[in-house]
Amino acid sequence: LVVLGIETSCDDTAAAVVRGNGEILSQVISSQAELLALYGGVAPKQAEEAHSRVIDKVVQEALDRANLTEKDLSAVAVTIGPGLGLCLRVGVQKARRVAGAFNLPIVGVHHMEAHALVARLVEHELSFPFMALLISGGHNIIVLAHKLGQYTQLGTTVDDAIGEAFDKTAKWLGLDMRRSGGPAVEELALEGDSKSVLFNVPMKNHKDCNFSYAGLKTQVRLAIEAREIDAKCSVSSATKEDRRNRADIAASFQRVAVLHLEEKCERAIDWAMKLEPSIKHMVVSGGVASNQYVRFRLNNIAGSKNLKLVCPPPCLCTDNGVMVAWTGLEHFRVGRFDPPPPAVEPDDFMYDIRPRWPLGEEFAQGRSEAR
Ligand code: ATP
Ligand code: FE
Repeated sequence: LVVLGIETSCDDTAAAVVRGNGEILSQVISSQAELLALYGGVAPKQAEEAHSRVIDKVVQEALDRANLTEKDLSAVAVTIGPGLGLCLRVGVQKARRVAGAFNLPIVGVHHMEAHALVARLVEHELSFPFMALLISGGHNIIVLAHKLGQYTQLGTTVDDAIGEAFDKTAKWLGLDMRRSGGPAVEELALEGDSKSVLFNVPMKNHKDCNFSYAGLKTQVRLAIEAREIDAKCSVSSATKEDRRNRADIAASFQRVAVLHLEEKCERAIDWAMKLEPSIKHMVVSGGVASNQYVRFRLNNIAGSKNLKLVCPPPCLCTDNGVMVAWTGLEHFRVGRFDPPPPAVEPDDFMYDIRPRWPLGEEFAQGRSEAR
């Protein structure tokens, strides 16, 4: 089996070709980081246009680098949700064109399931059931994965996701926004004292597994204002003392943001063990899982609960086409896919895209006909 995976749910246009045995034949990503810096965040219309501009090239390059043509593929997998509707549409349209022209089945993929399942490509021993903490720009969920397509959500954020808090912290600290904020905060935090600013750990007294990052974001903003840090002055041109202040805030924010993850993970693992005592692994994935401090701390938590941590390599934690191709393969193998679409689709064709789609919600392939 060989599957092409296409991902356009947010601001990266990605494609990859993966074999059934997990061998990655190619992966290509075109990032919209500069656009993001220009607009200060994801602007759906601009993001859609950027995807449309590069999608053909990205897919062609993925095939070329794999040394394959469309005829060698077994199926095309594409993210159909959750994400920005306009952006998802670009990927789905491309996937259906390729599948239609070459008579290939098509697999609709859940973006967050893909973040979780790519861990099974990396770690062959990872079998269901397992825990998964998925932390990214738009999501902050902890789930119990029972089997393919079946997940119980144990906790989610009541407001912002941790990645959003990293991104805003980076912006307010005047860090380079031409790449996403997370890596910039992680790097600056290395220079700071993580105990110098005492932020409160969110939701300390809540006896559930939910998360909240809006309050921490506000605490960070207030600390920045109190130190009169000017975001318009970049950190590279700041005075030594100013830089030190910024690094202290970055380190203190990162410590508390991760402490919150740790506390909720511990509780979620205890809950999950009651439901599925055979769990042996905890997956941590999504963009924020590429953070080394996050990986180190959560490895300790998993270890203390006798679980093995599985964290994909950083390039497979942030959005990528490999996770989509792999998740497509997993579903394809058990017969969950749509038949090849017609070579030419009617102009008024309604694509089956799901901008809001909770992980674990029953999913039936074969619903992509015109409505
Ligand atoms: P979602 O998966 O919720 O739809 P997304 O697809 O936009 O969101 P991902 O690529 O999965 O996002 O993750 C991007 C997020 O991860 C951004 O918020 C980014 O700042 C964060 N991130 C990436 N690298 C790091 C890092 N080293 N440390 C902290 N955060 C990071
Ligand atoms: Fe993502």
